[in-house]
Amino acid sequence: MNFLEERIKKDGIVKEGNVLKVDSFLNHQMDIELFEQIGEEFKRRFADKNINKILTIEASGIGIACITARYFNVPVVFAKKSKSINLEGEMYVAEVESFTHKCKNQVIVSKKFLNPEDHVLIIDDFLANGCALQGLISIVNEAGASVEGIGIVIEKGFQTGGQTIRNLGYRLESLAIIDAMDAADGNIVFRRQEK
Ligand code: 5GP
Repeated sequence: MNFLEERIKKDGIVKEGNVLKVDSFLNHQMDIELFEQIGEEFKRRFADKNINKILTIEASGIGIACITARYFNVPVVFAKKSKSINLEGEMYVAEVESFTHKCKNQVIVSKKFLNPEDHVLIIDDFLANGCALQGLISIVNEAGASVEGIGIVIEKGFQTGGQTIRNLGYRLESLAIIDAMDAADGNIVFRRQEK
């Protein structure tokens, strides 16, 4: 088990509805030492890539992206969730359906902060059905920038997002991949990774 899998086993709580709660260390209270290990690991996995910008989505991705950015020495841009439907012109816009909140949001990034010269690493906390990632990818594409890689902290491998994104040809690295989890007994099964 890697450092993250160990922490998920210790402090993660499996909820009904295929939701893993990790709010004691990842997305409410944040363990910054763990974030540093996460950032270092992303740097190791994407060492061969020339990355000049990290893109994430508010809110839970921001902390992870910021610590990771220290290892790449690059700025972070986060996509903002917006309820407004009239955001054109100066913004890249994508529609994203939230897995946890079951609602649709438009996510926006100012055109000032993404351009065709950018080589982007996308970072997020969870990958479930891949809707958030598809939105971020479409924003990078709209900007004419390139997606160099995608770094996810926890992929729920029993949902469709990971396979869809890999089938599209993206280099997707998930630090922990959960193949099964059970709300009744709290058991979590991780996919073996040769990393
Ligand atoms: P997707 O768009 O891939 O379906 O869902 C990704 C987003 O939903 C993530 O950014 C994350 O915020 C949230 N999410 C999805 N599944 C879980 C989960 O099991 N636990 C938590 N805490 N968040 C999740």
